[in-house]
Amino acid sequence: MDYFVKIGNNLSKVSSRNIEYAKEIDKDNNNILDYNEIKDFLIKNDDLKIVNTGQGKKIIYEKRIIREFSDFLTEKSIETQNFIRDYERIIESMKELQTKYPDRVFLQTIGKTFEGRDIVVIKVSKKNDRRQDKKSLLITGLHHAREWATGEAALNVVEKLLANYDTDENIKNLLDNIDIYVIPVVNPDGYEYSLKQSRWWRKNRKVFNDSVGVDLNRNYYTEKNPELYRTKGDRPDSIFDDYGASDRPYSDTYRGPYGASEEEIKAIQDFVNSNNINTVIDLHSYGNMILFPWGITDKPTIWENIYKEVGNEMNQVAGKKYWVSQAIYLYPTTGSSEDYHQEEGRFNYTIEVGKGFFPSSQKELNQIKEEVLNMTIVFMKNLMNGKIPVSKFLVSS
Ligand SMILES: [Zn+2]
Repeated sequence: MDYFVKIGNNLSKVSSRNIEYAKEIDKDNNNILDYNEIKDFLIKNDDLKIVNTGQGKKIIYEKRIIREFSDFLTEKSIETQNFIRDYERIIESMKELQTKYPDRVFLQTIGKTFEGRDIVVIKVSKKNDRRQDKKSLLITGLHHAREWATGEAALNVVEKLLANYDTDENIKNLLDNIDIYVIPVVNPDGYEYSLKQSRWWRKNRKVFNDSVGVDLNRNYYTEKNPELYRTKGDRPDSIFDDYGASDRPYSDTYRGPYGASEEEIKAIQDFVNSNNINTVIDLHSYGNMILFPWGITDKPTIWENIYKEVGNEMNQVAGKKYWVSQAIYLYPTTGSSEDYHQEEGRFNYTIEVGKGFFPSSQKELNQIKEEVLNMTIVFMKNLMNGKIPVSKFLVSS
């Protein structure tokens, strides 16, 4: 039985390997997936983002996301491979930086994925500076496989900072005082799968009995507050009490069998706890949002005012189009990067970049890269001048 996507007067056939999606979307069983059926499905999955701006609820970039999903269902090809580096090319680029700046760039493998790929962090530091009490920033990208711009944007930060170190006094000053770490691809297995096989993929590629994948941004866990991973009273064997993540293994927001069950997340948690990481920027797409903790509750953090002030300043250098908000006002989350780091005392933002999941041109990607770079520089300036709090140094010098 064939299914068709109908947008306007256009009818396109759903590819055979996306039939399971089609069955779920086609509520009226006429084998036609119309605009509203697709929209309802994407809203249900949190793929279409709805923000409550105070002037009512608004779906953001609705047409773009519905088009991206329809093109995926019908396997319409997109020619982005040339300007989006795959995992191998990202690793190569990191090695090139190390070769070019041997006394300032350090690569470290911090874990291995289910499919055996290395999880790699690049550190950029002042020449021959072994101080361990320096302030530091970790930037992470591609927790979610299909958020293609985020790996490029994360790596671009260190590429540009290094390129301008000798000529830009401001950047030299920032890099001399702050250690910057970047994990451009938190989820290499998922990223490769999304780039090369099925681009709507979000989770990692861990194989369970009869499902695949965990949502890595729902898998963070700290013993200091286990309820950030799974709220009190939530039973792992029930999906009716789910809040902020799902216990259904097929779900796109599956939190995993237990906290920090996934190698990718365990590697990051071990890494930040054994290094002196005291602030984090986690990149996602889409929606142009600068989000700060908490994601689990609407209670404010102790740093709410600083989050808003620095967030607004970051927005100023990024085209003034970002929505600065506590994360829960997008949707509630548990086991997220932002809540984990907040609980551990790390000032952090989750930045949602772009208008969709797949940059439609080199120009669109370049703009995202520039915005992230500019926002990061503002963040580092505020970290250096003491406005951004550093609650502790985890490793003594
Ligand atoms: Zn994401």
